[in-house]
Amino acid sequence: MATNKKKVLFTDSMGKAGREILAARPDVEAIPFPNMAQDEEYRAILKKHAPVHATILGGTRFRPAELDAAGGMQVVARVGVGYDAIDIPGMTSAKVPVMIAGTANSPSVAEHAMSFMLTLARKGPELSALVKEGRWGDRLKPAMVSNDMFEKTVLIIGFGRIGTRTAKRCLAMEMQVLVYDPYLKAEAIKAAGCEPVTSLDDALPRADFVTVHCPKTPETVGMFGANQFKAMKRTAYLVSTARGGIIDEKALHAALTDGTLPAAALDVFDREPPDPANPLFKLPNLIASPHIAGVTAEAMERMSAEAAKNVLSVFDGTPRKENAINPEVFG
Ligand code: NAD
Repeated sequence: MATNKKKVLFTDSMGKAGREILAARPDVEAIPFPNMAQDEEYRAILKKHAPVHATILGGTRFRPAELDAAGGMQVVARVGVGYDAIDIPGMTSAKVPVMIAGTANSPSVAEHAMSFMLTLARKGPELSALVKEGRWGDRLKPAMVSNDMFEKTVLIIGFGRIGTRTAKRCLAMEMQVLVYDPYLKAEAIKAAGCEPVTSLDDALPRADFVTVHCPKTPETVGMFGANQFKAMKRTAYLVSTARGGIIDEKALHAALTDGTLPAAALDVFDREPPDPANPLFKLPNLIASPHIAGVTAEAMERMSAEAAKNVLSVFDGTPRKENAINPEVFG
């Protein structure tokens, strides 16, 4: 039966908050689709419901073929902040905005970076094993003595949505915060209570913790390799929740094996999912998590709400341009 309602096809992985926002709108018909649907399967769903006016995606690819199948798409949104699976030039030339969940998961990633730094400094895995294995008497051995973050120096690489939030948390720990971000004015970094640094080579030897929050670009691929690890203190901890490839995994393996660095923590890898035989995973001084820094129960709810609001903002003619990847489509 024909309907005048705007149809929104949303991934069934979308959280309750987003579903409720859509359900509260009498002019919107919200239809779930299986999050795993890709390509032909997803296009068949679009065709079945065409015209589809908006879609909210999890990991589903979206290119001109999907746009054609929708027959009336006004906005493509993601329950997340990545958009690798969407053909942005294709959407821009069709004047279809692509919207992401803004800063909804930035605090969660910043908290993950903090938890990595704290876990490394406080020797979380080592001390836990010591207790469970009945080695209580070893707790004061030099190798088991942990470190404070208090009064230490942290170097934050990239001062965007996540780096700024990590800085706030580090300042609350009474740390000295150095920031390397060649695309920002020194004043903006100073205003946040941090010290801007213009040379990575000069800043690395000063840091007790280095946390990576820049994007993966041709400039940042391999940004951390053997030379950078050598420049760091022999006691410095390295953390990345940014993207695989920014840290050279082979060089990191060497640095963690030959005593150049005491320990590191990674949420992101060159290849994801990584090969379980990756030699890094054999090292006791490497902590790993499965690209999950931005995925907490709360972040998923916030992202679902953002995605729903993004779609409605386009329907209502008041687009949240700050969340659009291609805001030029709004003219
Ligand atoms: P953002 O775009 O808000 O900020 C990135 C900052 O890095 C910008 O200020 C930019 O000027 C700076 N930058 C660019 N090139 C640089 C360089 N060569 N050296 C230093 N700084 C540089 O991005 P964001 O949302 O804060 O995300 C930061 C990183 O975290 C990205 O790599 C993103 O992909 C990643 N991320 C990871 C997860 C996760 O679950 N692990 C989730 C979300 C985002």
